[in-house]
Amino acid sequence: MRTYQLPLDLVRERSPERPVALVRPASVAVAARWFQNNLKADVFYAVKANPSAWIIETLVNSGVNAFDVASIAEIALVRSISADARLAFMHPVKSRAAIKSAYFDYNVRTFVLDSHDELQKIIESTDNAADLNLIVRMGVSADGAAYSLSGKFGITPDQAPALLLAARQAVQHGQMGVSFHVGSQCMRPSAYEAAMTQVGRAIKKAGVFVDIVDVGGGFPSVYPGMVPPDLQEYADAIHRGFEDMPVSETTELWCEPGRALVAEGSSVLCRVDLRKGDALYLNDGSYGSLFDATHSRWPFPTKLVRDGESSSEMKPFRFYGPTCDSIDHMPGPFYLPADIREGDFIEIGMMGAYGVAMSTGFNGYGDHEVAVVEDAPMASLYGLAPRSIPTVRTTAEENSRKIVRLSRPKGKAGQRKRRK
Ligand SMILES: *Cc1c(COP(=O)(O)O)cnc(C)c1O
Repeated sequence: MRTYQLPLDLVRERSPERPVALVRPASVAVAARWFQNNLKADVFYAVKANPSAWIIETLVNSGVNAFDVASIAEIALVRSISADARLAFMHPVKSRAAIKSAYFDYNVRTFVLDSHDELQKIIESTDNAADLNLIVRMGVSADGAAYSLSGKFGITPDQAPALLLAARQAVQHGQMGVSFHVGSQCMRPSAYEAAMTQVGRAIKKAGVFVDIVDVGGGFPSVYPGMVPPDLQEYADAIHRGFEDMPVSETTELWCEPGRALVAEGSSVLCRVDLRKGDALYLNDGSYGSLFDATHSRWPFPTKLVRDGESSSEMKPFRFYGPTCDSIDHMPGPFYLPADIREGDFIEIGMMGAYGVAMSTGFNGYGDHEVAVVEDAPMASLYGLAPRSIPTVRTTAEENSRKIVRLSRPKGKAGQRKRRK
């Protein structure tokens, strides 16, 4: 991967034909450090948010060597980069072949389940292994998230006690735990505390000892119109919730952030191939990395990256992607200089999570290249840039000149912090 100080340096050098993921490993390292220093929990990165090798390498080098994986492909990917990574297979519905391969080929010991049938599958597929860690995923009612993750998975609180008991009895020399997911892009820290109260009630009813409480993902990032509370409020809510749970001093706290670790870590540089009035036809779209700009209508922050003068008047635009499908439309509004034209490049910010991860090859598009840039992300919850993104940007030259250097980790302290 080539490194450029600024996105504009790349555009000055050449006109890339494919969209470019502009990646900022330094900002992923800063986010990883924040979680390790501020949340008294073991951090498992949810690989689905962005499975790029540079992300996994950066996290491992920053002390996060534990991963929430959901498929054999994700397991193989992480193992190929970090042979000794801790892997937790957190998909509540797995094939028998996948469980078997995870256990016997990849040394995975931690499996999630949300039904008695899945528990049976795990036991049978591992030949009744004595060293399994079994985590029960509970469905919790939590509001405040942009995406619910309780509709599809999670046992209901009234059915949970029986499953917790069954999992406890199935565990031999390993650990038994409970997990939940408050929903992605959770805007309310109190959602974690509320979920932990519900989980605590089920544990009490079951009368079981729990080794692990896993609060899942859902930690937010910043998008236009969505500025979350300070991340410290999330940590405080989780610590309070944990204190009040019927667990012991040795119970471990785990978390599985995806979005919050990587959203700031990448933007996408794309090119305008045609302009029709307020519609810009780009070389990236909803079948590429702009899935959320279409399906959730998120107006991601944008910047013109042009070598030379541009109009100071900002106008709202909408985007079309490169495929022939009319779904390939991003309504925005995206504010860009009024004189934007064919051949211009646009940087779309805050695309590190669920961006390139969503890319398909539909219609022959979706392929992209990767380049490292050293400027700050467009917004940051970790102090690298402003905490919010104005919906209407006023000048084209707001480009933050702050350069973020990748600092080396200060050892692996804190990686396996326990509650004191
Ligand atoms: C998707 C997912 C995550 C990560 O969620 P974010 O909202 O990106 O933090 C964590 N755990 C599980 C089980 C998931 O499915």
